[in-house]
Amino acid sequence: MSRLLIKDVRYLVTMDEDRRELKDHSILIEDGIITRVETDIEPESDWEVIDAAHMWVFPGLINTHHHFYQALTRCLGEVQEAELFPWLKTLYPIWARLTPAGVRAGTRVALAELIKSGCTTASDHHYVFPRGQDPHLIDQQIEAAGELGVRFHPCRGSMSRGEDEGGLPPREVVQKEEEILEDSRRLIEKYHDPRPYSMCQIVLAPCSPFSVTPELLKETAVLARQYGVRCHTHLAETADEDDYCQKELGMRPLEFMEKMGWTGPDVWYAHGIHFQDEELEVLARTGTGVAHCPVSNQKLSSGVARIPEMLELGVPVGLAVDGSASNDASNMLLEMKSALLLHKLYYGIDAMDARKVLEMATRGGARLLGRPELGSIAPGQAADLFLVDARRVGFAGAQSDPVTALLTCGDALQADLTIIGGRVVVREGKLTEFDEEEINREAVAQSRAMLEKG
Ligand SMILES: [Zn+2]
Repeated sequence: MSRLLIKDVRYLVTMDEDRRELKDHSILIEDGIITRVETDIEPESDWEVIDAAHMWVFPGLINTHHHFYQALTRCLGEVQEAELFPWLKTLYPIWARLTPAGVRAGTRVALAELIKSGCTTASDHHYVFPRGQDPHLIDQQIEAAGELGVRFHPCRGSMSRGEDEGGLPPREVVQKEEEILEDSRRLIEKYHDPRPYSMCQIVLAPCSPFSVTPELLKETAVLARQYGVRCHTHLAETADEDDYCQKELGMRPLEFMEKMGWTGPDVWYAHGIHFQDEELEVLARTGTGVAHCPVSNQKLSSGVARIPEMLELGVPVGLAVDGSASNDASNMLLEMKSALLLHKLYYGIDAMDARKVLEMATRGGARLLGRPELGSIAPGQAADLFLVDARRVGFAGAQSDPVTALLTCGDALQADLTIIGGRVVVREGKLTEFDEEEINREAVAQSRAMLEKG
């Protein structure tokens, strides 16, 4: 059995059932699971020990929506002043040149950035499967996440309604429904591990109401429920989407998704900005979740999600960075800061605080993904956590409240150590087993190839 002791933590934020925050406690990890959280645990000779006397420790952050491949198409000048629909229409033809090697490179970049910012579980929504290209793109992601040691929820995305059928995407990135459902089945049977502490769980995720057919949505929900996997999609992101749904489908986005069987505690939506009062109540009543993406929502000028109201009503809410072309970082600490500031500005000074945001990014995310063994530090929980060094100059003078300090101070919004399932994947702010420059070089080459082919 492998044992890792995180000894004498200066300040431990557990996010456990009682939301305890503890001083001078130690955490014992045995074979990837937390077994004790106590004062004065004395190590035996064969235990690995991390001295945490100067460290603040937090549960690992859970990212509930992303598009890793977009790491190859960040900061493109032609979309910096574009809202979602024109942004997508400009980028689709570039994304149509995506290759398996590009998916692998983008995945490695995004995951490296995430774990350096304290993220331990990542979800990705991959929906671009270019025509004539090897379609085993999610397989590339699963392999890369396995190497980097990240707990992974790949969402098998899809687009089946091209421009010629009234949808938004061009034909080159649209697949046939049978092909999508067949690949979804294959991925579940090959990779989905439903057990507690699982490192990989598949999710089914048609891209949005404006890029798939109603039939695909219905059949996807049926298939997901046959296998007991979760469903995810984009919803209520922009006013353009509202208009599209009214015009093409004759109803509002949520009403349409409800009719397709897409509400329930096994469903979560990315964004969820343009919901009306009664729609928030539908989400609360059905336990349907929302992945809040504050940076992307601000960057694309999509709107402010009604998160304080959702939390008040009991809607499950997690936090997410969204794709790397609309953020353009994969930094969960930055995302938390943004969520805190956005809602203080928009809703008022007491509408949001650091602890509520941290809870969204930990327990909230675990709920969306159906992972009660994640999102908190307590005996029996997966050993997913991160440490920051309280001695950093950026934290000076902020010792009275490490949670607020984590969100609002800090040198570079980075974790010093990140641990996933007991494995130290980041130490002293660097990946422990991978060369970051090499990950960068690979992605730069893939990005260049994709942009130059045009
Ligand atoms: Zn997205």
